Amino acid sequence: MRITALDPVVIQLPGRTEYGWRSLEVPIGRYVILRIETDSHIVGLGEAPAILSWGGENQRYFGEDSEIVCHLIVNVLARKLIGRDPRDIKGALAMMDRVVRGFPYTKAMIESALLDITGKFANLPVYQLLGGAARTKIPVCHSIGIDSPTKAADTAVQVVEDGIGYLQIKVPGDPATDLAIVQAVRKAVGDAVVIYPDINRGYRDTKTAINSIRAMAGEAGISAVEQPVEGIDMMAQITKSVDVPVIVDEGCWSPFDALEIVRRQSADIISIYYTKSGGLTRAMEIGAIGRSAGMPMNVNGSLEGGVGNAANLHLSAALEGQILPSVITINTLEGREQTKVAGVFYLDDVITEPFAYANGCLWVSDKPGLGVELDMDKIEKYRT
Ligand SMILES: [Mg+2]
Repeated sequence: MRITALDPVVIQLPGRTEYGWRSLEVPIGRYVILRIETDSHIVGLGEAPAILSWGGENQRYFGEDSEIVCHLIVNVLARKLIGRDPRDIKGALAMMDRVVRGFPYTKAMIESALLDITGKFANLPVYQLLGGAARTKIPVCHSIGIDSPTKAADTAVQVVEDGIGYLQIKVPGDPATDLAIVQAVRKAVGDAVVIYPDINRGYRDTKTAINSIRAMAGEAGISAVEQPVEGIDMMAQITKSVDVPVIVDEGCWSPFDALEIVRRQSADIISIYYTKSGGLTRAMEIGAIGRSAGMPMNVNGSLEGGVGNAANLHLSAALEGQILPSVITINTLEGREQTKVAGVFYLDDVITEPFAYANGCLWVSDKPGLGVELDMDKIEKYRT
């Protein structure tokens, strides 16, 4: 089997509401969908939820956007991939790392399309290609964007009514405001709901961070705190100083980052995406490091559309160890809504079937490959 063509399309999914985090400069949902064609007429799908203002700690990983992703596919990687056997995933990863330094979102999109082709060829779901499912039911955490305390609390109540009792709350990194937001949410939803703030590197110094986290733990019962500061040394100081677990997100992209985090004890929980790592293969390596170090993990992302989310669901299924409820979109098709607010960031999607959802959990598909098909009418409707 040989690759014959790569066809990237930029889409903009319609947002349910305005959603943002501290360092986000562009609207979410303007992403690239890739079709890789083969001479066996098997087509593989991938998604790059690339965001230019999203990168690593201290500028260590650059942002990507749809134009950069398309440039790398059309002008650089297509001619290197055409003619290759799509099932040679490791060969493709090595080639891409040789030809293009960095740009993990582009590579992750390509790798997931290759896994989709391989799974369809072998008649196996992608999680089987990753060694099988440790779980098939994936608990979902809803992410509340930066908002006023009142509005964040209103959203939280709606999410809990929809059946999700696990909330990530984006806060701006100003201690008084952050505390007001998490307190308002706690008051609105009661003690049974798990809540944790994502600071997105917002605190400038460790003392401010430590005091703020302690206040939110004492007065709002937060269960964890995500990426309060920037840089492995500050993260280590905070991890040592506070009682609630510290989640690393912007600080962990590659297996090498994960090793360093374990060595330096700079987090308690690792947030893994299929994209930051440059694909599911490397994401599984991060998972192996986390599990070996006794660290819980979650599978978050950039609020993917249906194709990207399929990749995240297969990753969530295949990772061994302690996997916490994860910020995974409940992809909604117009007229076929399963929840109103919980997990819903877009009013429509480009896949033909929504993922099975019930009681705060999504199920990974057992269909061959990623288990999703494109609705080409929707692709036309939302392409930019
Ligand atoms: Mg985060």
